[in-house]
This record gives sequence, structure tokens and C-alpha cells, in this order.
Amino acid sequence: MSSKEELALELTFPYSESPEFGTALEIAPGVKWLRMPLPMSLNHINLYLIADNEGWIVVDTGIRGQETSELWRKVFNQALEGKPVIKVICTHLHPDHTGQAGFLCQYWDAPLLMSYSEYYQACFINKMMGEKRSISHQAHYQKLGFSDSFLSSLVSGGSSFQPTEDDIPFPESFTRLVDGQVIQFGQYEWHIVTGNGHSPEHVCLYCPALRLLISGDQVLPIITSNVSIYPTEPEANPMKGWIESHQKLKAAIKDDVLVLPAHNKPFYGLHKRLDQLIAHHEDRMLILEENCTEPTVAIDLLPLLFERKLEGFTRIMAMGECMAHLHCLMDRKRIQRQLINGVYHFLSIDPTLSSRAKPGEHEDPDQLPELT
Ligand SMILES: [Zn+2]
Repeated sequence: MSSKEELALELTFPYSESPEFGTALEIAPGVKWLRMPLPMSLNHINLYLIADNEGWIVVDTGIRGQETSELWRKVFNQALEGKPVIKVICTHLHPDHTGQAGFLCQYWDAPLLMSYSEYYQACFINKMMGEKRSISHQAHYQKLGFSDSFLSSLVSGGSSFQPTEDDIPFPESFTRLVDGQVIQFGQYEWHIVTGNGHSPEHVCLYCPALRLLISGDQVLPIITSNVSIYPTEPEANPMKGWIESHQKLKAAIKDDVLVLPAHNKPFYGLHKRLDQLIAHHEDRMLILEENCTEPTVAIDLLPLLFERKLEGFTRIMAMGECMAHLHCLMDRKRIQRQLINGVYHFLSIDPTLSSRAKPGEHEDPDQLPELT
């Protein structure tokens, strides 16, 4: 049994089955769970419907493309009980959450609700994905130890996330959601609780009366959300915000909630999971710290965190995660960074550290990062 499975045993999963793609499963009065497909190893995303007096609130939308929009039409016919969609909420900017926002908002003439940072970053990412990608960030990756030949081998091919001319464009306006806001949907109040680290201002929806938390990617029960450094903000420290957000959620949300995540299945055990996730990242940081007793290039640290062979763009994603941990250690004054011959070397500051795990020997390698 893997350590992920062992950790999952500490949580309770009340649903043994997930809804088929394009069908809805009611999990509380006026709250329905949907699943839509994703074209990657993480093969699904969970979406939710919340009943309001005049219609439905959609929470997250699925990836762009005809397959998901056809499944949405099936949902419209079979799950909405003759009522319209009246609002579309995206928990955060990632394309599996926002990909159908244009379609849904246009089809139903419904407003899009998002936090400020998520909306504008979604607009920026959509613009970036529509442009021919250059290796303008090459210098960033060279400093982390990637070779010129590897970087030039990265082909900027098409992506299933990339919008095409067939897609209805992302909505050009939005209604802002803010931390602490309370919104009435039907007879229930839902509280907006934001977090960051995986994305800049991720919205979770908490209903104390129904004891539900729609957590998006801010809390997942089995896989861990991608927390990464991107070349657009090379000095960022998202891991600090990620860990602080977990502490914030633990203080703000009771442990009795059924957590409705964007991936995997609904579960009980929010506080346990938040503790697990903090411990997971602290463990990762300790591994890095203990293996930087000599000046070490970032690329040589990847096997400590990822056992599977990393190729192509997955190496870039893995590096983003590794750097997020290293930057947090730098902020904590546990690791220092030196630029030697144009490449960053990382060195632990505590001289008493001894090497705990060598590349490839660690027992609990994380799985490849998912673009969640
Ligand atoms: Zn995400």
C-alpha cells in the first residue's frame, strides 16, 4: 500500500461510486455533483450545482472543447429540473475550471463570478495560450540547470487547454467574489473563503448549515495540488501562502464538513487532510534541506521528489514544484542560493544536517504534478 493510500484511510469517503460523465448526483438538498472528463492521467474534474430560487449556480465548468460542452447539454436536459443556470462560479483560473465558462455564460446569459486575481490571470493566460509561445523564459530555466539542448527540444505544440476559434471566448466581464463574503443561494448562506499557493486567490464555498465545503483544488483528498514557480514570477514564494492558507482554512471551517473537491471523491476529515498536506510539504522541504549540504543545482534535486522518469514538459512542471519548496526554505533562512557560472546552487545553512535520502531512494516519491 502506498503512503497516499495509507493517508487516504484516515479520511472517510461516503461515496463508493462517482457520477458518470454528464450525469448529476444529489449529495445534499439542492447540491448536485457532476463529473466531466480531462484528457490526462488525472482523467476527471468534479463540478457542482447549487440550487437558488430561480435556477442553478454552476461551480467550475470543465475543460474547453466540444466533448464537455455536449455533456453540459446533457446536464441541461436531465439535471436542472427545468430551471436555468443563473450564475457561473469558477473557483480559480486553471483551464479545467474555466474552459467552459464562455459557453455556459453565453448559453444561459449568466454572469461569471470569480475573485479579482483569478479573473485577470485567467484573461492573461488565455491571451498567452493564444499566442505562439517562444522560449523567452529560457534564461530562467538555464539558471536551474536545464541544458540548452533540452530547452530547445521543448516543442511549443498545441495543447488541449489552448482555446481555438471554435471556442466561445472567456467572458469579458465578471462579478467579484471576495474573502469573507456571504452569499444567499436559496435558503442557505454560503461563505467565500479564499486561499492561495496553487493559484493567486482561489475561492472555496463553505455552507455551515449544510456542512459542505466546495474546495476546488485548494484541498484535495488523495493527490496534491500543484504549487509551482513559473517564469513569469521567478522569485515567488507560493509555498508560504499555500501552508498559511491551510492553517487559515482549518481555523475558518469546522471539521464536520463534507468536502467536495475538484478531483478525487467527496470526503470527511478536512482538518486531518489539511494537517497531512502541511506535513507533506514540510517533509519535502526537509528532504531538500538535508540534501543540500553541498552546493547543489536544482535539476539534481528532482529525483528526490519525483521517482518517475521525467521527460519533456513534465520536467519543467516538476522543477516548478521543486523551486516552490526551495524558495520557501530560502524565505525561512534555511537554504541560501548562489549563482555559480550562471547556474543557481542551493546550500543548506544549518551545518549540522546530514543526508537523509539520496536521489531515487526516498520511499514516498510524489506522483508527477498534475495541472489541476
Ligand atoms: Zn487548479
